[in-house]
Amino acid sequence: MKICNKCDAGNEVMHYRKICKACYRQEVLDYKKTVKGVVSVIYHNQINNTRKRGMEDVSYTQSELQDFLVDETNFMELYTAWVSSDYLKDLKPSVDRDDDYKSYSLDNIQVMTQEEHFAKSGLDRVEGFNLKASTPVYGIAQDGSVTEYFSIHEAARQTNSHYTNIWNVCMGNRKSAAKHKWRFKYEQ
Ligand SMILES: [Zn+2]
Repeated sequence: MKICNKCDAGNEVMHYRKICKACYRQEVLDYKKTVKGVVSVIYHNQINNTRKRGMEDVSYTQSELQDFLVDETNFMELYTAWVSSDYLKDLKPSVDRDDDYKSYSLDNIQVMTQEEHFAKSGLDRVEGFNLKASTPVYGIAQDGSVTEYFSIHEAARQTNSHYTNIWNVCMGNRKSAAKHKWRFKYEQ
């Protein structure tokens, strides 16, 4: 029996890999946090979606999708914010179609955070019911008045601002957004 030499748990290696189950699981988790891993998950979800709904096939390959997202969209901006948030689910970059009646093509997709995606698809967290999954913030106006918003996305909607800008103010990377200072309600 071969013992995993990647960790010191003394586990047996999986018969088709050189590492143990635990190390393999960790490798998969690490991969899912890379740009390639995120794009791969997005791509395969799209393929599954088109099959489930009987839509036209996705009209690009995974690497074409990655090049497009990295070069032509704000994907990297969102990805970086997601990494520095320690992989907060709400901030994970996701891809949505502009026109829901058309299938996935490079001219019919846009990048947004997971939270924006949910908000757009009209799920209950738009109404503020799913508070646990959102990141509540305080907006401090120039006159000093403070407003609480149940999520960054809700704050962006109400103040005509952008999600990433508010997030960056909260993180201290930026002074203000939409003429407001922003603070997380809870320490992140
Ligand atoms: Zn191991």
